[in-house]
Amino acid sequence: MKGKIGVTSDNLFPIIKKFLYSDHDIFLREIISNAVDATQKLKTIASAGKYKGSVSDLKVSVSLNKEAKTITVSDNGIGMTSDEVEKFINQIAFSGANEFLEKYKDDANAIIGHFGLGFYSSFMVSEEVEIVTRSCQEDAKPVRWICDGSPEYVLEEAEKTEVGTDIIMHINSDSIEFLEENRITELLNKYCKFLPVPIVFGKKKEWKDGKYEDTGEDNQINEVIPAWVKKPVDLKEEDYKDFYHKLYPYGDEPLFHIHLNVDYPFNLTGILYFPKLKNNFEVQKNKIQLYCSQVFVTDSVEGIVPEFLTLLHGVLDSPDIPLNVSRSYLQSDSNVKKISGHITKKVADRLTEIFKENRTEFEEKWNDLKLFIEYGMLTDEKFHEKALKFYLFQNTDGKSFTWEEYENIIAVNQTDKDKKLVYLYSTNKDEQFSFIEAAKGKGYDVLLMNDVLATPLLNHFEQKFPEKHFVRVDADVVDKLIQKEGTKEDLLSLEEKNDLSPVFQAITPKDRGQFIIDFQDLGEDGLPMIVTQNEFMRRMKDMSKMQSGMSFYGDLPDSYNLVVNMGHPLIKRVIADKHGKLESELSISAKEISKFKAEKEALKKLKEGKKEEEVPQEEKDLLKETENKIAELEDQKRRKLEAFGASNDLAKQLVDLALLANNMLRGEALNNFVKRSVEIMK
Ligand code: ADP
Repeated sequence: MKGKIGVTSDNLFPIIKKFLYSDHDIFLREIISNAVDATQKLKTIASAGKYKGSVSDLKVSVSLNKEAKTITVSDNGIGMTSDEVEKFINQIAFSGANEFLEKYKDDANAIIGHFGLGFYSSFMVSEEVEIVTRSCQEDAKPVRWICDGSPEYVLEEAEKTEVGTDIIMHINSDSIEFLEENRITELLNKYCKFLPVPIVFGKKKEWKDGKYEDTGEDNQINEVIPAWVKKPVDLKEEDYKDFYHKLYPYGDEPLFHIHLNVDYPFNLTGILYFPKLKNNFEVQKNKIQLYCSQVFVTDSVEGIVPEFLTLLHGVLDSPDIPLNVSRSYLQSDSNVKKISGHITKKVADRLTEIFKENRTEFEEKWNDLKLFIEYGMLTDEKFHEKALKFYLFQNTDGKSFTWEEYENIIAVNQTDKDKKLVYLYSTNKDEQFSFIEAAKGKGYDVLLMNDVLATPLLNHFEQKFPEKHFVRVDADVVDKLIQKEGTKEDLLSLEEKNDLSPVFQAITPKDRGQFIIDFQDLGEDGLPMIVTQNEFMRRMKDMSKMQSGMSFYGDLPDSYNLVVNMGHPLIKRVIADKHGKLESELSISAKEISKFKAEKEALKKLKEGKKEEEVPQEEKDLLKETENKIAELEDQKRRKLEAFGASNDLAKQLVDLALLANNMLRGEALNNFVKRSVEIMK
């Protein structure tokens, strides 16, 4: 008998061939999935007592014939009658076909899934496909169906004694790669590793007389009952680890696992693992494998699980995820959204559980876990809320605290005058050592926040909790890190400070950004000078390194404060030296300046109440001249102060020491410092 395949669109085959090119691989998955389904259907029928034959050895065999250029997939499943072949294979009629094909022409999976074209995907790689099948129904006649990819087919009687189906694919010349044993093994390992029915590909081989020879044993590709299908009570820690290594033969030991088992309101099973995270996220992503009833579908799960969970490894299996549709469709699917929310919840619950049950272990693994948790908190609102229970702060002494514990510890000492709680942190224990010590000396605690997500995380915390404030230990001198009530009286007049600024400015490094001189009384025991870095600017610059669009901050020069401790004897000595060397000169220029300033005021007075055009030109010129004179004198004065600073070894030494404490003294400057130090000691 001859017939015409019942497609509404005559150009279906060209479309299959043309648009499904990107993923030719899947033909084998589709054909084997059908075979597996057929065996499972037979089992169901048998258990309902409607099939009398044996179902104890159900399996699917794949074989290659290189000479005949065929791949055959055989099953001993339900089989098809002639009518069923008519119905299931020939009449792939569907409504709105053209429209759909147009929309999804670039998405092979969408087309296959939507139309149940699974079987027809064999035409991507075949010039002709044969089905030889015998139905499990008693007295059914075996039939052969042959089609060369045109809508015409032949359906005839055939010889077949066993119940089941053989799909024989005559591989086309473009697809001969699939006639290689290695290629087929690769595909089977990718798609069929955990199918629920044995998949057999030839015989197991053994090394004999200098070559591999077939043994009598079937070469079974798959594990029929993979770990995620089993009940958690039946599995030991070791089993989970073994399964992990089956999935990722080269992976490090995972930290924890989560066994998912949901049957309402959707079906979802799977095992997720927390891997050890390295700083480089990208290489670790996309390791989760997605299965649909044990058939491998994809290992790119974006859209199905929240972004941060793509860092996890493991498997997810759900018949409820519309697996064969396009990504954009997936992301808007409400089932998928529910599943994704559910996974987040499960992951958070599991972490809470591990934290409660075994805090020591959790703390030990925290360093490997924290990036994942921080990433989750930053990107997922719900996860953030749950994670506050197990997020750990670590201080510079290596102790860990929960959010709540830490708050209690710092509440008394680290609340500032505006009732804000100030969290002090360090990003580098060595570089910020002196600041950490100073803060501890004041009874403060200092956190260590040194991973790549630290800065965005602090911003995130401050946004969530406006009454909390994070300040890096070197953002200011210790007395000012946490502003308390009551300020000390200033030791120096404003004038004196203005005079001293250029002295120190002259000796700040010119190639390290911008320095602002700040006078503080840190007492005799404080350091004479300290370099600090404004929290806001530093954090903005840090953020700009991570995000494009913030380059404004990135392009600004680094900005530091050079804090001069006016209460320190050595600074007092510099000031005294300045007085000794410059006093007479300075007082003369001060007198002159004030004389001109007085003149300027007088001239301004004359102008008062007059319109611009009423002021005589002479007066205008005189004012201009006076102003210029003042500027010139001030400039002269500044240069004198700068020259004094530049020649003052003690001041230079003190600035260098402050830079050195911040790890900012390098190269020539460091060399000069060493030489000068030796000179001083002579
Ligand atoms: P789908 O599997 O999505 O229904 P296919 O085009 O792959 O679409 O298959 C169409 C139908 O053909 C199947 O639903 C099944 O009834 C039948 N079929 C395909 N392969 C086999 C097989 N190996 N044994 C029995 N029936 C099969």
